[in-house]
Amino acid sequence: MLEHNKVVTRFAPSPTGFLHIGGVRTALFAYLWARKHKGTFILRIEDTDKEREVTGSIEQIQRSLRWLGLEWDFGPDKPSQEFGSCIQSERLDVYKKYADSLIEKGLAYPDPYTEAEVNVFREQATVEKRPFLFRNHRPENFKIWDGSKPLRLKVPEIKRYTWHDEVRGELTAGEEMLDDFILIKADGYPTYNFAHIVDDLEMGVTHVMRGEEFISSMPKFLSLYDALEVPWPIFVTLPPIMGPDGKKKLSKRDGSKDVLEYNADGYLPSALRNFLALIGWNPGGDRELFYELPELIESFSLKGIQKSGGAFNEEKLKWMNKEHLEYSLTPQEREQYVLTALPERDADITKRLAPTIFERIHNQTEIKVADKEGEYDWAFGPISYTSELLKWKNDDSVAAALPRLKYAHQILQHTDFSSADTLKTELWSYAEEAGKGELLWPLRVALTGRERSPDPFTCAFVLGKEETLIRIQSACDKI
Ligand code: GLU
Repeated sequence: MLEHNKVVTRFAPSPTGFLHIGGVRTALFAYLWARKHKGTFILRIEDTDKEREVTGSIEQIQRSLRWLGLEWDFGPDKPSQEFGSCIQSERLDVYKKYADSLIEKGLAYPDPYTEAEVNVFREQATVEKRPFLFRNHRPENFKIWDGSKPLRLKVPEIKRYTWHDEVRGELTAGEEMLDDFILIKADGYPTYNFAHIVDDLEMGVTHVMRGEEFISSMPKFLSLYDALEVPWPIFVTLPPIMGPDGKKKLSKRDGSKDVLEYNADGYLPSALRNFLALIGWNPGGDRELFYELPELIESFSLKGIQKSGGAFNEEKLKWMNKEHLEYSLTPQEREQYVLTALPERDADITKRLAPTIFERIHNQTEIKVADKEGEYDWAFGPISYTSELLKWKNDDSVAAALPRLKYAHQILQHTDFSSADTLKTELWSYAEEAGKGELLWPLRVALTGRERSPDPFTCAFVLGKEETLIRIQSACDKI
């Protein structure tokens, strides 16, 4: 067993599918708390329900956590010298040892009943309007356990339990919550109820951090700790993640998707981490942005964890991603970010377009959507529009634009197209003289054929000198 003088936390997913937002928030909190105390963070795979296991999820869970920068000290790929594998299905001998010790103390017994017999008890209880409790049917003499029947705990003492939760304070539950639950199933695998407690003990876990769905099972867990005669760890119940309306739990429809999808959508791990940390944890004060992981580790505290659920607000995540993109990407990385979102487009044009795209988006999916909707088509291929669009709203007719476009054409012929700024400098005094809308509107339409687009200097720079002059000329011809 590990020394108990330092913090040990664990994230203990069941490999029953991809890691979603709720799961990863639990992992993040457990990780932050361990790192804050220079402690140990364990990734334990709880795969004792073989029927529910989904192939590939163990790898997916690891990829997700690694992408988020939440590296573990011990995990499925990093067994411990002291306690061995972090995959429960590889630890059956450990559970057997604990089961044997309980049998020896007379605190575990093989379930003597068939399913049909138990159903009769259950029906009886329903008729008598009382809850069905297995312990009311506990056999007088325990048989020897040969593994063919489930092994049950004999609850050591039927009593009310009161315990402390770091987040929720004193909690209590009556004896009706206690029952002789199954420790080891007939298939030889332990139940979650048994295995997680054995493992937390063997792995020296000091803080059990998990969702509120486990609170109702706490009396059972506590009776097992007592049967094993071991101290309880510190319990930290994390608040649920609510949907955007804050009223019901986050569902897949509201965005509880595979963590790696956020990677594919162009979210930075630092942004998702920052966002998740603030769901159910209040750092105190107004600070919301934690760009670097060490800052988050430093600020994290159990005291700031809230009791009630925190809402998942996708708009806030987008905003936060934008802040992180601006904070951490160099100009080259920003260019690359846009290029990766538009792999099919001409790379040279995309590079010139990149800064203006980057300015307007919060993630790569927005770039892809805008591209699909044709927002960037003007930069890559021929444009078509009706001459009416060239008319500035204050002009009487489209003809008014003609001399301005001609003059702009003349200026641009002698201009160096090295940057959008140069183009702006060259055209600006004329724009002030002719009227800004009067010049810039028709010029922009001439270059893009669109009502909405970046400013004409940027567009001209993206198109290059030759294409810019051709398009202005063609607008003049239209008029
Ligand atoms: N395997 C459990 C789950 O995935 C872990 C619960 C716990 O952290 O104790 O929900």
